[in-house]
Amino acid sequence: MLEKKHLEFREKIRAFALEQIEPLANTLDTEQRFHTEHMKPLTEMGLLSMLIPEEYGGKPTDTITYSIAVEEASRVCGSTGITLAAHNSLGTFPILKFGTEEQKKRYLPRAANGELIAFGLSEPDAGSDAGGTKTHAHRDGDNWIINGSKCWITSATKAFATIATARTSDNPEDRTITSFILEKDWEGYAVGKKENKLGLRGSDTAFLHFDDLKCPVTNQLGKEGEGFKQMLITLDGGRISIGAMALGLGQGAFDCAVKYAAERVQFGKPIAYNQAIQHRLADMATELEAARLMIYEASRMKDAGQPFSHYSAMAKLYASEVARRAAESTLTILGSVGYLTGKYPAERIWRDVKLCEIGEGTSEIQRLVIARHLLKQVQKT
Ligand SMILES: Cc1cc2nc3c(=O)[nH]c(=O)nc-3n(C[C@H](O)[C@H](O)[C@H](O)COP(=O)(O)OP(=O)(O)OC[C@H]3O[C@@H](n4cnc5c(N)ncnc54)[C@H](O)[C@@H]3O)c2cc1C
Repeated sequence: MLEKKHLEFREKIRAFALEQIEPLANTLDTEQRFHTEHMKPLTEMGLLSMLIPEEYGGKPTDTITYSIAVEEASRVCGSTGITLAAHNSLGTFPILKFGTEEQKKRYLPRAANGELIAFGLSEPDAGSDAGGTKTHAHRDGDNWIINGSKCWITSATKAFATIATARTSDNPEDRTITSFILEKDWEGYAVGKKENKLGLRGSDTAFLHFDDLKCPVTNQLGKEGEGFKQMLITLDGGRISIGAMALGLGQGAFDCAVKYAAERVQFGKPIAYNQAIQHRLADMATELEAARLMIYEASRMKDAGQPFSHYSAMAKLYASEVARRAAESTLTILGSVGYLTGKYPAERIWRDVKLCEIGEGTSEIQRLVIARHLLKQVQKT
């Protein structure tokens, strides 16, 4: 499935990640500090413009290449992985897919140049049920006036703009939702306190509050009322990148486990000589490889223009559960040193990886998406 260009890219990005990203990963986690230092190298490597056409300053690649980038970055630092995934798949993609030419010209060159764009869908009362958004927008002449809050927003503190949804009907029962491109500098746009998280502590997650935020109608994204549909389409692609992030984290755990098992001597021989340890390693390697194939296949389907919604849900579901198991097995293989913070990446990965079973739809929601597709197929026959 992989072409020569993919293999070459993997080598290049792997070397880059080891040299530029990994050395800071532990520090950022411990200090709970955003990876500002990584932004220039990430921009120069083109990793923040992978979906943006050249005419808007991007370095476009196919989705497999993009998945490899998220995978390899996450293999050494989950926080950098989620920043990449959120910016590319959730921040720039909707502008590219649904934006006007004027919007593309205004926002994509800045995004390609390393300025982050966030994605504001989740709210305190609208998580899995994102269609239940309470944020409201009403029209006032050439502006929309937006009020409400978004929560859990990746890179909220850093992003210069956010793609956000709001209800554009005055009837609370009516789920007419429209999306907007909102700028951080506008009056009425406020970033809340940064969350203190279990993992991915080198990425910023925060609330956004909109208080009579005046958004010009020219910043409405696509047609009025189509916001929810647009966000579902966006999440279909985003799930591939969260799957790739999980895969990278799982692979990072495996790298650590296999090395440690070969080096750690107990009862006069490396613990890797024990069949119980070997079986764990074999299961991890097998499951990770299967997840990798699913992620690349979802990427291929997306680029081929095939329906891939159910498949990206499967790939994300499987990769995130496999990666969580790999992180857990790695802690088992490391014994007590695995339980320490900072000595080995295993404990950080174990904390980071849980997000992959939550963000962009929990595992339960992925199962609903997959089951809905299966049942539709049956109804068609
Ligand atoms: C680090 C981090 C970064 C994030 N980044 C972003 C971001 O950039 N932008 C953004 O918009 N959001 C972001 N999110 C939010 C994330 O996408 C939501 O938290 C997620 O969709 C789940 O919503 P919830 O937390 O409200 O859970 P809830 O919807 O309250 O669900 C709670 C539990 O109930 C289960 N559940 C809910 N409904 C059903 C059902 N019908 N059937 C079975 N089980 C169900 C869920 O699976 C879950 O286990 C982020 C979250 C985190 C932790």
